[in-house]
Amino acid sequence: MRHLKEVDPEIYRAINNEVKREQDNLELIASENFTSLAVLEAGGSVLTNKYAEGYPRRRWYGGCEHVDKVEELAIERAKELFGAEYANVQPHSGTQANMAIFFVVLKPGDTYLAMDLACGGHLSHGLKHNFSGMFYNVVTYSVDKKTEMLDYDSILELARIHKPKFILAGASSYSREINFKRLRQICDEINCYLFVDMAHIAGLVAAGIHPSPLPYADFVTSTTHKTLRGPRGGFILAKKEFARALDSLVFPGIQGGALMHVIAAKAVAFLEAETQEFKEYQRQVVKNSQRLARSLQEKDYRIVSGGTDNHMFLVDLMASRQINGKDAQELLERVNITVNKNLIPYDTLAPAQTSGIRLGTPAVTTRGIKEGEIDQIAALIEETIKFRDEPKKLKGIKEEVLKLTAKFPLYPELQEKIT
Ligand code: PLP
Repeated sequence: MRHLKEVDPEIYRAINNEVKREQDNLELIASENFTSLAVLEAGGSVLTNKYAEGYPRRRWYGGCEHVDKVEELAIERAKELFGAEYANVQPHSGTQANMAIFFVVLKPGDTYLAMDLACGGHLSHGLKHNFSGMFYNVVTYSVDKKTEMLDYDSILELARIHKPKFILAGASSYSREINFKRLRQICDEINCYLFVDMAHIAGLVAAGIHPSPLPYADFVTSTTHKTLRGPRGGFILAKKEFARALDSLVFPGIQGGALMHVIAAKAVAFLEAETQEFKEYQRQVVKNSQRLARSLQEKDYRIVSGGTDNHMFLVDLMASRQINGKDAQELLERVNITVNKNLIPYDTLAPAQTSGIRLGTPAVTTRGIKEGEIDQIAALIEETIKFRDEPKKLKGIKEEVLKLTAKFPLYPELQEKIT
């Protein structure tokens, strides 16, 4: 980054500091990951210079022959990877991918069913300050109070009463397998669409570890940057019959020129996701997640729903150690363990505090961490919480974390000297 260093030393330093932060921290935020250098290179390429409004071979600008190739590859790879009839790789984010489906299917005031945000749903599934909550009538389903898992009978009951235009499935903090087949049956019974937002589990779906929503859903959206390990962005998969409506809704409906450098990086990530290595990586993500949950349970932490089937889970810290999620997040940050506070189902604390934290293993697994180190991480979390009022002990724990992260170098080529 020698040019950047010369032109803008402040941004240069911030980027280098971020490289160092990523190296020196145990990243347990379930929605984050570390892309390959190939993805980074595509994302940092000259494709950022090119305007490409429209779609391959149907552009509003000249000079699109190379970006057309890039977008065609991204589309073909997405379709192939997930077995989809149609793909749109232009959404700038997962939220925008979702917006496209809402705008195609719903009219203002229409009713849809989605998972309660407090039980794991995402803000683009009905938060009142988001478009999804501003313009539509959202009816939410929750997890069962006792099992903390989805209760499909109660979803059917709600669907029968409210007759939604679609049922939206998918979550930001739900650790159990989602039964798409059952949801399809419910949608068929009341004659509505099934819309699945697989942002969190897309990598697991690509690797065949979580059942795919594709055979059952009318619309599937996702981000590319979570378990899928691509650049920050979104995409849409659907049945062919919706191709025209979705294409024109994404552009010019809700976006202008596509981010061609990001689309190139998405294409690279889709290609990487086809490899055997990626499948093994996803298997390890789930093994690590289950091991971390078990390891904490052995220390008497309460894990929401009693365990995990995927890359993440919630820890009920108030019940386990009388510390709220916000304080735990700040405390763990002091020892270089990065997590996020998270509501647990039926939380009695406010979203700014929360009773829990969400832990995920996609990022640490990318570094090569396996079950042995996962046990060590569980022990470090326990010690941090136990010795929360002993700064000397916390300093020692941070040194342990740094010893561990040093064993798993991340982006060694990018570790430049900060001047
Ligand atoms: N959908 C789900 C289930 C998510 O968890 C997220 C992000 O956390 C999104 C959509 C939104 O993605 P973005 O931040 O790219 O808009």
